[in-house]
Order: sequence, then structure tokens, then C-alpha cells
Amino acid sequence: MPLYSYTHDQESPDCERYPDFEIEQVARDLPLGVCPWCGKPVRRVMGAPAIKKRHFDCELRDKGFTKLVRVDDGIFENKTRRPGEEKYVDRRKPETLPILEKTIRD
Ligand SMILES: [Zn+2]
Repeated sequence: MPLYSYTHDQESPDCERYPDFEIEQVARDLPLGVCPWCGKPVRRVMGAPAIKKRHFDCELRDKGFTKLVRVDDGIFENKTRRPGEEKYVDRRKPETLPILEKTIRD
């Protein structure tokens, strides 16, 4: 089931899910009008999962991972690009490969 993000429309500091929460809903479910935990008004937040994903890529990079996502035949987007690295990695062009010496130096 897809995850949907909600945010409280009113302050509700006692709610265990305040200020934002994610909940699994089937697509045909109506958007929630109130928080299932505290009953205060909430609204669905669109696009939040994508923001979270970009954040996650930063976390991967900071932990020393390299993440390549295939965008075309032999072409990969370097999602954990570090300074001096190309945004796109071309398998046929070794100069575009991530600089591993930088990653594994320490
Ligand atoms: Zn709540």
C-alpha cells in the first residue's frame, strides 16, 4: 500500500504523531480529514516522499555509499555526487566514474 504524508493543521503537541506522519492507505480511500491519533484537523502533503528520498541520498553519500541510477543504456545518474564528480556516469567513459579514492580514503 502506498504511504501518504499528512501534516497537522493545528498545533497538537500532545499527539504522538505531531507534526507530520505517514500512513498507509489504498488509493481509493478518501484523504484523512482528522488525525487518527488526536482527532485534530490534518491535510495531505503532496510531494513529501520525493523530498524525503533526496534527503536519503545525502545520507547515503555521507555514510560513504555511491548510488547510481540507470537513466539510459550505459548511462547512470550519480545520486551521491561529490565535488569534482560528474552528474552522469557513462560506462564507456572511465573519466565519468565516481572517484572512489575520495570515498574510501578514510
Ligand atoms: Zn495528531
